Amino acid sequence: MTERTVLAGMTLVDGTGGAARTNATVVIDGSVIAEVGDADTVATTPSDKVYDLRGMTLLPGLIDCHVHLRSNAGTRPQDVQLWNMLTSAEEQTLHAAANAREALRSGFTTVRDTAGSLPEVAVKHVMDEHVLDGARVVASGLVGMTAGHGDMFCPATLDEKRMWPPADGVDECRKRVRQYARMGVDLIKICTSGGTLSLGDKTEWRNYTDAEIEAIVDEAHALDLRVAAHAHTRAGITAALVAGVDTLEHGSDLDEDLVELMLGQGTFLCPTLSISEFMTEHGSMRGLVTEQLDKAEQLRERRLTSVRRAYRAGVRIIAGSDSSNTMRFGNHARELELLHEQIGMSPAEVLVAATSAAADALGIGARTGTVAPGMWADLLLVDGDPLADLSVLADRRRLRAVFREGRVTDPNAAESVPGALAARRRPSDPARTTPRASAQAAAI
Ligand SMILES: [Zn+2]
Repeated sequence: MTERTVLAGMTLVDGTGGAARTNATVVIDGSVIAEVGDADTVATTPSDKVYDLRGMTLLPGLIDCHVHLRSNAGTRPQDVQLWNMLTSAEEQTLHAAANAREALRSGFTTVRDTAGSLPEVAVKHVMDEHVLDGARVVASGLVGMTAGHGDMFCPATLDEKRMWPPADGVDECRKRVRQYARMGVDLIKICTSGGTLSLGDKTEWRNYTDAEIEAIVDEAHALDLRVAAHAHTRAGITAALVAGVDTLEHGSDLDEDLVELMLGQGTFLCPTLSISEFMTEHGSMRGLVTEQLDKAEQLRERRLTSVRRAYRAGVRIIAGSDSSNTMRFGNHARELELLHEQIGMSPAEVLVAATSAAADALGIGARTGTVAPGMWADLLLVDGDPLADLSVLADRRRLRAVFREGRVTDPNAAESVPGALAARRRPSDPARTTPRASAQAAAI
C-alpha cells in the first residue's frame, strides 16, 4: 500500500462553483485524489501523512488557457520583438520549459499554449513524464496565412526565422493540420483577424477566407483536435464561429447575434484582459512601439463591452492571460482579478473560469479542474480565502503548496534553503531568520 497524503481541516473550494466546504479532508493516493470528505467520514491509517491545514483554502490547480511558452524566461534585457528571431529553437525550448515551471509555481497546474509547434510538444512530453517540474502543457499547432497575425511577428527580411511556416489555400491548410496531428499537438490555433502585437498588419485585416477556415476546422475535428480562434473583429469572429471553432480568443467585437451563436454552439470565450492592461500600462517600458500600443488602446474598451455582453448572456468564460515575451510568466492570476473587477464576475465564477470551465474547454475536464475522487491530484493550497479576495492568488507568499498529479512543489522554492543547510544555521547570526526547508513537508 502506498503512503497517502491527507490534507485536513482546510476550506475546500472544489472548482464546481458550489459552496465552499469547511473543515474538509482530501486524500491523495499517488497521482490521484482518493477521497474527499470531512474529518468524520474519512478514515486514515497510521501510514498516512496527515497535515493539519486549518485556516487555509484548498482549490483545484488553476488553468491558464492562453500562454505563449516560447518566450524569454531570462532577466537580461532583450528586444521583445526580435527575441524569437535571434534565439535558436533549442534555446527557446529551454525557456519554454522554464516558463512552464514558473506557471506551476504561480499555482497553475495546466497551461494551454496557443501558438505552438514541435518545441511546445517537446515541453508537453517532458512535463507529462515529470522529467522536469512544470505545469502540464496543452499544446497547439498554429495554422496561419502569409501576412496573417502569426506571420507578422517575423519581418519579411527574416523569412527563414518564421516560427510557423504559413499555409495558404484549402489544401495547404488541411495538410498543415495533418502535420500537426502527426506531431502530437492537442489542438489547432488559427487567427481569423489581424492582431495588436504583430507589426505591419491591422486588426481589421481578413485572416483566411471562409473556405480555408472551414477546411482547417473540419480537418482538425476529424482528427480529434479542438480549434482555438484568435479574432478581434466582427467579420473574423463570425467566420470562426460559423466554421464551428471551440474557443474564441480575445473576442473584442461581439454583438448580440454573435453571442447567441456562441451560446447555441457552446463556444467558450477566453478574453485575455491582462495583456491589454499590461500593454496599456507597461507596454512602452517593455519596448513596444507606437503601432502596437495604439492598436491595443483602440481595442481595450471595445473588448470590455464585448466580454461583459457575453458574460451577462451566459457564455462560458475561461481564464487566459496571454503571458508571453511582452508580459512575463508568473503573473497569471492577474487575469482572475480583472475578470472580477472589469467584467463583474463573482470570485466564485472566476474560480470556475480558471478551473472546471477551463478544463472542459481544453477537453480534460474528466481529469482536472475539480476536486473529486478519481481526478488527478492537481491542487493549490493558499493561506487565505480567495472567495473573499482573489488577490490572495496573485500573492506568491500566500501560495503554500501546488500539487500536480500528486507531486508537490513549493511556490516559493527559489527563496528556500535546503533542509541540510538550514539545520546548520547558527542562531546567533541576525541575518539568518527562521529556516524554511524546501522539502515536501515544509512546502505544506
Ligand atoms: Zn496570444
